[in-house]
Amino acid sequence: MNKKIFNAIWIVAIVVFLASLTFIMGVSYNYFSGVQLKQLRTEAELASQGVSISGLDYLNGLGAKDYRITWIDADGTVLFDNAVNANEMENHLEREEIKEALKDGYGESVRYSNTLSDKQLYSAIRLSDGSVLRLSSVQMAVWALLLGFAQPICLVIGIALVMSFVLASRLTKRILTPINSIDPDDPMQHINEEDYMEIAPLLRRIQYQNEQLKRDQKEIEKAALIRQEFTANVSHELKTPLHAISGYAELLENEMVKDEDMKPFARKIREESTRMTKLVEDIIDLTKLDTGGVEMKWEDCDLYRIAENAVDSLEAPATALGVKVTVCGSEAPVRAIPQLLYSIIYNLCDNGIKYNHSGGKVEVDVQQTSHNTVLKVKDTGIGIPEESRERIFERFYRVDKSRSKAVGGTGLGLSIVKHAVLVHGGRIKVNSEVGKGTEFLVSIPNRPKEIEF
Ligand code: ADP
Repeated sequence: MNKKIFNAIWIVAIVVFLASLTFIMGVSYNYFSGVQLKQLRTEAELASQGVSISGLDYLNGLGAKDYRITWIDADGTVLFDNAVNANEMENHLEREEIKEALKDGYGESVRYSNTLSDKQLYSAIRLSDGSVLRLSSVQMAVWALLLGFAQPICLVIGIALVMSFVLASRLTKRILTPINSIDPDDPMQHINEEDYMEIAPLLRRIQYQNEQLKRDQKEIEKAALIRQEFTANVSHELKTPLHAISGYAELLENEMVKDEDMKPFARKIREESTRMTKLVEDIIDLTKLDTGGVEMKWEDCDLYRIAENAVDSLEAPATALGVKVTVCGSEAPVRAIPQLLYSIIYNLCDNGIKYNHSGGKVEVDVQQTSHNTVLKVKDTGIGIPEESRERIFERFYRVDKSRSKAVGGTGLGLSIVKHAVLVHGGRIKVNSEVGKGTEFLVSIPNRPKEIEF
């Protein structure tokens, strides 16, 4: 990281410097070309005055070294040239600058000489007698110019390299020091300091993610604890009937049971195994709700019909305990998971029967409004004390453990009910008076947002 940032800064500095140098050289070269051409024209104008007055004598006496001077007659014949013998020179009428001068009075052109490395600048003026005086000078090529500047350029490049190196390493340090000193556990400690201004969003993000991680961690720990408690409770709940069954079986095996006690023993074994089966069924239901059972499908169904079915299947235990169960209301078409609705009604009615007195009643009422369907299960049973009303939906919570066990309760019924209601996006409420009875109110939307199982 350190090296990467340093190299990036250094390379950028050098590239910018070289690009600027090239640009400046190019611009200066163009500027100087212009200046040189202008100067050549001034010189040509001055010389033309001299030639107009003194003719060849002026030219012969001039002795110019930096310029080449050529005097051409109106028909193109070279009258004078200070560099080449005029007699040997070809006709100059076709030269661009001469043509222009003959036509407009002044002409100029730029041509590469034979070597191509140098540029030849020409400036030609028509004299009053129709002849043309031409001055020319050599302009150096860019690279030749550069070569001339080689020493100072190398010096400047050298200085730039050293400066870029020093600046790049300082800048790298300035960028990285604050980043390296961030404490991931406490990223906000430098937030108000000048050096950290630019990375403040990064610090805030780290802080936010830290908090989120902590929250997630807490949730994971809580879920793990709940799972642990649940597993411990399940093992405990299963152990009791298993112990009882194996105890009875041992007595039977050792022929320690009198013939007349055989039947009650067998009944006890059956009761315990029924309790175990119920417990396992409830655990399966809860696990399905937790993980999403494959066979759970949203369907159009009638809550009232489901209530009738659930109550029908509870007829035997209700009769055995002397409790009367009734269903009223009207048809209530809903989009729901029928198994879960059945489970809600079955468990609520089952409790209404179990925690009731002989001769008591359980009333199921189904009412539908335009958006919601309300299910009411009201009993005339023992009621639930105020302090337990919140907790009855917890897994394995029972108000009176021995009573629950005596009536075959598992402590899971209401947690299944609550879970199933939540899956349908509904709410559950309980009203109760100890000694008088309990009323459960479940409200679900007719067309809930379907949760994928
Ligand atoms: P259980 O299998 O023990 O009935 P539930 O989860 O269905 O477990 O209910 C939890 C506890 O809430 C029960 O043990 C009981 O003490 C109390 N309870 C539930 N429904 C009623 C009710 N209708 N009347 C009185 N107590 C109830």
